[in-house]
Amino acid sequence: MAPNMMKAAICKEAGKPLVVEEVPVPTPTGRNLLVRVQVASLCHSDLLVTAGNSSYALLPQIIGHEAISVVEALGPDAASFSVKPGDRIGAPLWQDMCLECWECKIIGPQHCPKITMKGITSAGYFAEYALVDAATAVVIPETSGVTPAQLSPIFCAGITVWDALERAKIKPWETVAIVGVGGLGEVATKYAHALGARVLALDVHDGQLEGVKAGGSADGILNTRGLQPQDVRAQVAAMNSGRLIDAVVVTSGSVPAYQTAISILRPDGRLMVVGIPQEPLPLNLGLVATKSFRLVPFNHCRYRSDVQ
Ligand SMILES: [Zn+2]
Ligand SMILES: [Zn+2]
Repeated sequence: MAPNMMKAAICKEAGKPLVVEEVPVPTPTGRNLLVRVQVASLCHSDLLVTAGNSSYALLPQIIGHEAISVVEALGPDAASFSVKPGDRIGAPLWQDMCLECWECKIIGPQHCPKITMKGITSAGYFAEYALVDAATAVVIPETSGVTPAQLSPIFCAGITVWDALERAKIKPWETVAIVGVGGLGEVATKYAHALGARVLALDVHDGQLEGVKAGGSADGILNTRGLQPQDVRAQVAAMNSGRLIDAVVVTSGSVPAYQTAISILRPDGRLMVVGIPQEPLPLNLGLVATKSFRLVPFNHCRYRSDVQ
């Protein structure tokens, strides 16, 4: 039985520290599950909210959208979603889709006009208890052998890069370059490696490159700091039997990272957009046309069937 009050870390004002306060434990209405948070991890998007750099955030807000939780109670409409009290769950960021509109049924529930974003436009996981939309909940078997702390980032970083790789339609005989191998990029190298692709990691930090090399998920690494795009192109081709790259996943939010990515892409290759630069990307559409490459955005607002 959940208590009446709980501690929550609230972003009251952008640019100020979070405030820990006692607030009421929410009541699960509709499809919502009341969950007890086991582990909540901090994402780059949370920092955009707290710094005032998110154009979506509604403040004050309990932040956090990556967590592993245990179900405490079900809302009146949650029973048909195969989740029960005691289940350990994770869930994607997006929730409250209506599941009935044209967007929900035809394009995907992540485009529903009624959708909210946990920890950004609705209360998140930096609290002892939270509400989770049962339609997004993924039940994690206790026998998975993975700890809650290991699992938690999978529900944002993991989904994000998996989505990019899935949309890139990676074939086992292809070469994938990951540009930017920090948190997201490191996960991307592991997933691409698991898909059977040859994986090249590009970054401007030796430490991150050495990390993915030591982890065994990169077949080659290149520090692009100070290199011109044509030099990166030549070095990457030399690392890949003279060929350019089939799909490039850019997890860095910098314009030069995208310029690097375009320079190493083969004709008819796929450029996967994950990192979001703050400034616009100058894009030569003549090059897009002549190289016939495809610019594909990630969309990490996947429905639970995609995550399972
Ligand atoms: Zn996130
Ligand atoms: Zn809808």
